[in-house]
Amino acid sequence: MEQIQNLINGRWVAAADGKTFEIRNPADRREILGHAPDSSAADVDAAVRAARAAYPAWAATPAPKRGEILYRAAELLVRHKTRLGIQVAREMGKVMPEALGDVQEAIDMTYYMAGEGRRLFGETVPSELPNKDAKSIRVPIGVFGLITPWNFPIAIPSWKITPALIAGNTVVLKPAEETPACAAQFVALFQEAGLPPGVVNLVCGFGAQVGEPLACHPEVDAVSFTGSHAVGARLAVLAAERHKPFMMETGGKNPIIVMDDANLDLAVSGALWGGFGTSGQRCTAASRLIVHEGIYDRFLARLIDGARRLKLGNGLDPASDVGPVVSAEQYQKVLDYIEIGRREGATLVYGGEAYREGTCAEGYFIQPTIFTDVQPSMRIAQEEIFGPVVCVLKTGSLSEAIRMANDSAFGLSAAIYTQNVNAAAIAERDLDAGLVYINASTIGAEVQMPFGGTRLTGLGPREAGGRGGALDLYTKWKVIYRDFSGKLQKAQIAS
Ligand code: ADP
Repeated sequence: MEQIQNLINGRWVAAADGKTFEIRNPADRREILGHAPDSSAADVDAAVRAARAAYPAWAATPAPKRGEILYRAAELLVRHKTRLGIQVAREMGKVMPEALGDVQEAIDMTYYMAGEGRRLFGETVPSELPNKDAKSIRVPIGVFGLITPWNFPIAIPSWKITPALIAGNTVVLKPAEETPACAAQFVALFQEAGLPPGVVNLVCGFGAQVGEPLACHPEVDAVSFTGSHAVGARLAVLAAERHKPFMMETGGKNPIIVMDDANLDLAVSGALWGGFGTSGQRCTAASRLIVHEGIYDRFLARLIDGARRLKLGNGLDPASDVGPVVSAEQYQKVLDYIEIGRREGATLVYGGEAYREGTCAEGYFIQPTIFTDVQPSMRIAQEEIFGPVVCVLKTGSLSEAIRMANDSAFGLSAAIYTQNVNAAAIAERDLDAGLVYINASTIGAEVQMPFGGTRLTGLGPREAGGRGGALDLYTKWKVIYRDFSGKLQKAQIAS
């Protein structure tokens, strides 16, 4: 059984008051996987002090050298990919191909950000005066508080840690209480890659006891959060009151539009994979299927048939297609939403029950669930369920489908299946989401592109790479004017 510890100033330590909490296997709640520190504000304070002390030397380390350490970390992630994948499957419940995908995402991100160490481009522009130049450079911000969820327990910490580090910041990571062992194993590889003590710190524990003191700590300069909208909105206020740069990535209610000319095989597999992959626990999960009436009956029959074929089981079993949901809390929340859908008058055409067959008897398994006759105003069509539940809505036209797709408080990902180039172009233009997929499901973002959404989905710069991506959060701009005329230039006086 694993005994997880915090990482503070390069040392693995217990919580200051010695308290721990249990980590349980969601595929079999009787199994205790280990214990993690149930930390408090005192641990946060120690970690933040370590990050603060490590900051000047790390910020002064040339970015290509920082990149070399990240590159070594990426190589260690490659070497330990299977071990980390198994940890993800055990602690969070995903099936192994998805768990390995979670780790691969972190590998990709770490290599990508390592390369940024030799870019981190600024700008030079002509000055309006002779013998003067003007340039802008990216500089680090300081100590970052990073708060992450459980659904991508390796990938999401990598999305935050690697851009923070390459830019010269130091960090304190507070991982989700459901997945502290994944976070500890991930961070340990960064230590092994040669990070100086205090550059990355890890404090395990719960949101109110660790996350909030971290976000509010006066020595934390900026905060990056991924999780529920309610917590993100609260942290946004706390950060604003303290004048801290803040970024949040929260919910989605992602639609797939299926037009009557769609390739049916592709559309059905995209809907199944997007809706039920990771048991629907992705922020990009396809939870609303907006299907043209001309193809509706055929699509629905194939969707139900596909859902019936999905095998629920322990993520470590190669025969499993869909694992459990992550915790008792999520289990109850998803079952409650299924009940809400029934009461709202939607028709349950498949699933809708907890699944307790055979080896699944003691896990948090829920059948893939499909509702039809869903009206856009229903709660199940508007609120993020974060479980294996999809809503099917019927449409008569592309313009109505796009209106329905955009009728959401969230705007993370949206997809359309069509063979019509004009319909694809219109959807690409009019779908109001951070990510738009044409003839592909709502999932599958790549690290070299910015990741994030519109409306309540996000606030602040996007994550990952590319223009408008994570470096805009983890750096600030400094503009430098250099005058080598040797005299007071008149035009300067005017401004
Ligand atoms: P989820 O519903 O996906 O678990 P949460 O927003 O509750 O989403 O959790 C995401 C992360 O935010 C976790 O690391 C969690 O511990 C943390 N968290 C929860 N509540 C707070 C809070 N009040 N302040 C800071 N962090 C919190």
